[in-house]
Amino acid sequence: MRIALIAHDDEKPSMVEWAKEHESILAANDLIGTGTTGGRLNDETGLSVTRLESGPLGGDLMIGAEIVTGDCDAVIFFRDPMTAQPHEPDISALLRICDVRGVPLATNRASATALLTGLVDAGSAES
Ligand code: PGA
Repeated sequence: MRIALIAHDDEKPSMVEWAKEHESILAANDLIGTGTTGGRLNDETGLSVTRLESGPLGGDLMIGAEIVTGDCDAVIFFRDPMTAQPHEPDISALLRICDVRGVPLATNRASATALLTGLVDAGSAES
């Protein structure tokens, strides 16, 4: 599976912590991330994340494009619900295309854990 990881600035520490908690499951997948999120995960965890552009510079849209081409299987996006983002239109576009294409999307830590667990269960049920 190719999983996209994104976290807004105030959520980045939580993303790093969560990724460490789930490192073994995540490591078994192909990981992509927006620039800063991906950089922090590469630096602060044992994971290897392919870094796209930073979110405000189009990284969210790059992930959206992968969803359109069928290359990205799930999105884990720790959004900051308390801070306005300059690239809100890009964020909305990403959330929308997940719904259009039926791609699993988690927008907070609890749903991310549920999503990852569900993907693992689905994988073992298929094999
Ligand atoms: P960043 O982008 O990982 O480059 O900070 C995340 C975002 O704000 O969408």
